[in-house]
Amino acid sequence: MNPDRSDAGHIDLDSALVPIVGKKAADALALQLELHTVGDLVRHYPRRYVDRGKLTDIGGLEIGEHATVVAQVEKATLRDMRARRGKLLAVVIRDEKGAQLDCTFFNGHKVAHVIQPGLRALFAGKVGVFNHKLQLTHPQFEPLREDDEIRPFISVYPATGKLNSWEIARCVRQVLDVLDDPTDPLPPFLRQREGLAELGRALRRIHVPETEGDYHAARNRLVWDEAMGVQLALALRRHATVSRPAPACPPQTGGLLDAFDARLPFTLTAGQQAVGAEVAADLARPHPMNRLVQGDVGAGKTVIALRAMLQVNDNGRQAALLAPTEVLASQHARSLRVMLGPLGQAGELGAAERATKITLLTGSLGTAARRKALLDTQSGEAGIVVGTHALIQDHVGFADLGLVVVDEQHRFGVEQRDALRGRGERAPHMLVMTATPIPRTVAMTVYGDLEISSLRELPDGRSPIATTVVPLAEKPTWFERVWRRVREEVSGGHQVYIVCPRVGDVGGKDTVVDTEAPDSGADSGVDPGEGTARRPPLAVLDVAPRLAEGALDGLRLGILHGKLPPDEKDAVMRAFERAELDVLVATTVIEVGVDVPNATGIVILDADRFGLSQLHQLRGRVGRGSAPGVCLLVTEMPEVSSARERLDAVAGTTDGFALARLDLELRREGDVLGAVQSGRRSGLRLLSLLRHEEIIAKAQVYAADLVAHDPGLQAHPGLAALVAETVGDEERAAYLDKV
Ligand code: ADP
Ligand code: MG
Repeated sequence: MNPDRSDAGHIDLDSALVPIVGKKAADALALQLELHTVGDLVRHYPRRYVDRGKLTDIGGLEIGEHATVVAQVEKATLRDMRARRGKLLAVVIRDEKGAQLDCTFFNGHKVAHVIQPGLRALFAGKVGVFNHKLQLTHPQFEPLREDDEIRPFISVYPATGKLNSWEIARCVRQVLDVLDDPTDPLPPFLRQREGLAELGRALRRIHVPETEGDYHAARNRLVWDEAMGVQLALALRRHATVSRPAPACPPQTGGLLDAFDARLPFTLTAGQQAVGAEVAADLARPHPMNRLVQGDVGAGKTVIALRAMLQVNDNGRQAALLAPTEVLASQHARSLRVMLGPLGQAGELGAAERATKITLLTGSLGTAARRKALLDTQSGEAGIVVGTHALIQDHVGFADLGLVVVDEQHRFGVEQRDALRGRGERAPHMLVMTATPIPRTVAMTVYGDLEISSLRELPDGRSPIATTVVPLAEKPTWFERVWRRVREEVSGGHQVYIVCPRVGDVGGKDTVVDTEAPDSGADSGVDPGEGTARRPPLAVLDVAPRLAEGALDGLRLGILHGKLPPDEKDAVMRAFERAELDVLVATTVIEVGVDVPNATGIVILDADRFGLSQLHQLRGRVGRGSAPGVCLLVTEMPEVSSARERLDAVAGTTDGFALARLDLELRREGDVLGAVQSGRRSGLRLLSLLRHEEIIAKAQVYAADLVAHDPGLQAHPGLAALVAETVGDEERAAYLDKV
């Protein structure tokens, strides 16, 4: 803040609110809505507008319609309620044409001081009938003031119980009356090319539009600010990252990678080859690779990662492979060992002449094993270190880390990636892999610091997966059929997963979420508002014994969840891999990466409790071998519910991209965008990943261009401020320091 710019004579966005709106209102704005400055308040945009041209006359109201009327209060009477405590306010209102309507407010004592005879206000609600008369029950209302009368739109603000929309509107108007037009952060060339209004005008118009076109134009302009803030932040981050030195690891002929390719039991798909070539070229450069490989479940990403790690090993440097769960980390370590054979047995008998060593490093190794693993890592003896994400965050020392591969990281923010890159001058190469297809706008924002490669096809010989919703609400007998189907798979020589949302009672404590499971806590599919008093989700520890004694009696059942001791987890997973178990009852700990080709069936209980992408991932655990897969989504939710719609969507398509887009529509976008931001207050209010794809794409191009020419944004202090608003000062300082 520039102190001499916010003196009394000059009001700008940094000015305090008190001198303009008064202490009482300023305190309320600060306390209720955390609005402290003029800038905060003018960026508290209306939630919607009431178009005075579209108001209804009381005479024309129809039962059941949602109506907004302007009327004057004729009578307001407080009455005791019959069945409840408290008072009811019975109100009669009358419009300009003289027609009357009853309104009832249940919080009588709270509104009685406002709703008094003579008050003109907007009343909005659903038209019902009471005592043979039309009435509005507990309508929303907005008192009108004289100067409201002439305005074509009434702005309705996000409000709280203690601070009404119209009080906010009054403060906004007071501020707009005295605010000097702020300096526009967007460069004139950009505004001109995109036909954008000036900031000052846009801020006025979004609060006080004259026409519908006004607020559309204003919003559009303000969306641009947010899109530019995000894209500049990402461009600066990208610039800062790629400017760091990294160990160049060009392909070496006659090395481990060549030897590995020679013993590969299958041919790489065209996609694997193309992406492999991009990765190989990135690794050869003396600046860090930042690449995301997206490819649907089973597309064959692991082999891409392994080949990259071998290229790095061929240059005498180490690679780390990070998985979201311990189960997946140990599976990776095992399968890398199998794939590499003698090439991965450095230091052991029978190793190839040129070999690397694979070390598993997870948080729950025993002390001795952990010490040995750390030693191998620090000495550089371990060429490939496999572990959980916690591994690197715990500042494990590597002798010479050339590459970090992050596997299955679909909920991983920009900040975590920064942490993995480390603070030193030199950064390792980074390869991020995800099986959750990423809608374009998410790619441009949450993953905007990365280059993106896509694997579009699956390797040949994949089997189709048939997905069926089992709706217990309508067809309770189908439950039997689920278990019969499980038995059929098993008698066909195959294996089945049964997934429950919850672990159950562990050591006297009811474990609701499996913290080891990759998506725990983010069960975005859960819609607690739907249905009432739902029973707790099914738990592994309850379901498994019941099935063992009942429907699946005689089958070999194992259980797997994050609360098991690590060696037990490992033992169970191995037993399942070796087909010593027929059925694995598990939490979403098996959601990602787990690869047992003989498993052909997956039953997901309480499937409505999972998010779309989660279900798609879980389903990807089957159909990995030559036999077709079957996925049963069991739910008790009623036929007409958003939960059932979601499940039908999963059953209806195996197109991960389509599901990812739907997931984005259903999930609160803020959760997604939150990953690009830091700090408490979000600078993003209007930007939508669904609606603003074009703007985000254009902003990305402008941002890249601006940063390429002026990496410190020296010529554009306004844009630098916009970045700060989006990501917070601290982080902005962090990039700008690096350039
Ligand atoms: P994801 O992309 O889901 O991580 P994986 O890397 O686990 O997939 O690969 C799934 C399976 O496909 C593995 O068993 C792997 O060995 C196999 N696979 C990978 N690439 C090919 C290929 N080109 N041809 C045949 N099988 C392949
Ligand atoms: Mg994988």
